[in-house]
Amino acid sequence: MKALIIGCGIAGPVTAMALLEVGIDAEIHEAYGQDAEGVGSFLNIASNGLAALRVLGAHRKVLDAGIPTPRMVMWSGTGKRLGEVANGLRLDDGTVSHTILRSDLYRIIRAEAERRGVKISYGKRLVSYDERAGQVTARFEDGTEATGDLLIACDGVHSRTRSILDPQAPAPRYSGLYNFGGITKDGGLSGEPGVYNMVFGKRAFFGYSTSESGETWWFANLPRRLGDVPASWKAELVRAFEDDAISSAELIARSEIQLGLPIHDLPPVPVWHRGRVLLLGDAAHATSPSSGQGASLAVEDAVVLARCLRDSRDHTEAFQRFEAERRPRAERVVAYSRTISNSKAAGPVGRVFRDLMLPIFLRKSASQESLAWMYRYEASL
Ligand SMILES: Cc1cc2nc3c(=O)[nH]c(=O)nc-3n(C[C@H](O)[C@H](O)[C@H](O)COP(=O)(O)OP(=O)(O)OC[C@H]3O[C@@H](n4cnc5c(N)ncnc54)[C@H](O)[C@@H]3O)c2cc1C
Repeated sequence: MKALIIGCGIAGPVTAMALLEVGIDAEIHEAYGQDAEGVGSFLNIASNGLAALRVLGAHRKVLDAGIPTPRMVMWSGTGKRLGEVANGLRLDDGTVSHTILRSDLYRIIRAEAERRGVKISYGKRLVSYDERAGQVTARFEDGTEATGDLLIACDGVHSRTRSILDPQAPAPRYSGLYNFGGITKDGGLSGEPGVYNMVFGKRAFFGYSTSESGETWWFANLPRRLGDVPASWKAELVRAFEDDAISSAELIARSEIQLGLPIHDLPPVPVWHRGRVLLLGDAAHATSPSSGQGASLAVEDAVVLARCLRDSRDHTEAFQRFEAERRPRAERVVAYSRTISNSKAAGPVGRVFRDLMLPIFLRKSASQESLAWMYRYEASL
């Protein structure tokens, strides 16, 4: 059996490796060139995502390139420490959630997939596909095509495959927030390495962690109408943070600011598969970054799909089993993440309510068990 995988972000290469484990050949077709690094400068791979990568023996290099980040401390914009929550659980071998440059993660998992024999073709943007005589053929913008037994769509939140699979599929939903992020040398913010500091500021949200070498890894979420692009994002961000007690405005003033990226998630997508085609990762259930779970969900999906294909009579049964196992979990994470994003985009009244409720919520979340539903998930082959 041969699977065509569309997209070589995070889900694509990991799915290819998982399918190889159960004897299914996979080839990846990626729209961009080899050097595309994806959006967002760094990301959190939660303990559950690392557990899934470990099933494939693909976690070691990711851990080596990342920084352990097992804790989060929450602050108000006035500088009050609101509480602390665990960022993931400790796995049986001591592994905790890690933060890694997105470019490093892409490079590592692509190289590992290729080392195991997966062929990756770049510059192949899927424009359409059709099924005929028990096969599926993907057609690309450059006029070429590829044929296989299955097509696994790992083409992200704005998936082209999704809109072909079901033209009625819901469009991505704007969260109300633009995201910014970077790594600043001598950022001037204090903090314990390995701890994410999350600041619910007066007008915007700021998160950062410091590295042993003194860098500040930071991101900002700015509430803003979609498409309302100011003359200078930097000036806008400095204004948003200038009244907060923490010196995020000074850090931003000294940093290089990339273009703001509007954050989207997906409302429940009614159709995940049809015929020989299945949506996976962000293409099926994109979550806003607030839970730090999108990449981990994609990795879990890959492992579960491989098991379902191995243990089912045919692909139809496998896709049904996959959806039954993954949909409730993925949609619960998307909803949880959306609640956090909404609190970051709160207006003046919502903000007062949020600042009153947050310490209560954090006291409840202080026990590891309250978020165990999200972190304690062992994807098995
Ligand atoms: C700013 C930001 C911060 C984030 N932070 C975190 C975090 O801390 N932790 C976390 O777990 N998640 C985070 N996420 C979410 C995470 O990035 C996604 O959940 C994850 O990348 C999903 O992987 P994917 O492979 O499904 O999609 P993607 O990584 O988006 O990959 C999709 C791939 O498909 C390709 N593609 C698209 N269309 C086509 C086409 N027509 N033909 C061929 N190829 C195509 C794209 O070029 C891309 O390479 C963040 C997201 C953003 C935007």
